[in-house]
Amino acid sequence: MMLIVLKDGHEPSEIIEKIKERSASYRITKLYGKTIIIAWPDNNVEGIESLSIENVYKIKKPYPLASREWRNRDTIVEVEGIMIGSNKIVIAAGPCSVESEEQMIEVAKKLKRLGVSMLRGGAFKPRTSPYSFQGLGEKGLKILKKVYDEVGMPIVSEIMDPRDINMFKENVHMLQIGARNSQNYPLLKEVGRSGKPVLLKRGFGNTIEEWLHSAEYILLEGNGSLVLCERGIRSFEHGTRFTLDIGGAILAKKLTHLPICVDPSHPAGRRDLVAPLALASIAAGIDMLLIEVHPNPEKALSDSEQQLSIEEFSQLVEKIREVARAIGRDL
Ligand code: PEP
Ligand code: MN
Repeated sequence: MMLIVLKDGHEPSEIIEKIKERSASYRITKLYGKTIIIAWPDNNVEGIESLSIENVYKIKKPYPLASREWRNRDTIVEVEGIMIGSNKIVIAAGPCSVESEEQMIEVAKKLKRLGVSMLRGGAFKPRTSPYSFQGLGEKGLKILKKVYDEVGMPIVSEIMDPRDINMFKENVHMLQIGARNSQNYPLLKEVGRSGKPVLLKRGFGNTIEEWLHSAEYILLEGNGSLVLCERGIRSFEHGTRFTLDIGGAILAKKLTHLPICVDPSHPAGRRDLVAPLALASIAAGIDMLLIEVHPNPEKALSDSEQQLSIEEFSQLVEKIREVARAIGRDL
């Protein structure tokens, strides 16, 4: 595929005419302040000239916008002043599900004191069984907004239905696409169009290439505020809930310019494995962690076995700080 970057202030019309004359296909987007045309097949596009062209890249990967082949530098995603992908590692922590205002206020205040920069909490929960707790829905989002107003930590929460986009835009700061919706293309397009920062989880049955194709849907809508999140894949192994693919997370960092997050909670499926998985991920070079922490994990309405108590999490934060320092990064 050919990725054509236009000079600032230039319209794509002249190049589009030439692409059409050569019977090539194309898409246009505006990303990181640049107008970009993706055109293919290469043979039909090669040699197109125009004074509006700043640069042309022949991209070998099938996910041109996500690829480092045109943007060989680390993209930094800003969420309310928090910079994801810089030298400073970002932690988003909080309960699996929003259960009550008291629970969220308590956990948010304690996490903030520990230096956590973002708060997580699911209001719409993708539960395997329809009989399991489904989340508080809109009420949960309103609680998150209230906690933000009171405590000031930006919120990341999972959206499952494109029809909920306005509700999410009003109440949260980063939209999480869960593993189960990682290939829900209408949803990906909607969060792409929203312009809000997005945390895109890898589907547990997806290859890295499929995950990056999903990222491409969001980027193609002109939304470059995108963080990729590895959360474990299905393997033959049942000792852990999922198999955390640290190699895959680091490969995604090498192939793309996007910041990489790891969620060590869902692959662990049990409390005592969360800290080692988190530390291994930091040591490997990822930019962000998403960790489930609950004020009273035994009583949690979802994922009770893997959520850390505040005390357990606080010990983990100290270790994360040390590992980060050892590889020349801050927390
Ligand atoms: C979550 O983070 O709340 C969640 C449901 O994770 P996943 O989509 O990775 O299963
Ligand atoms: Mn969970």
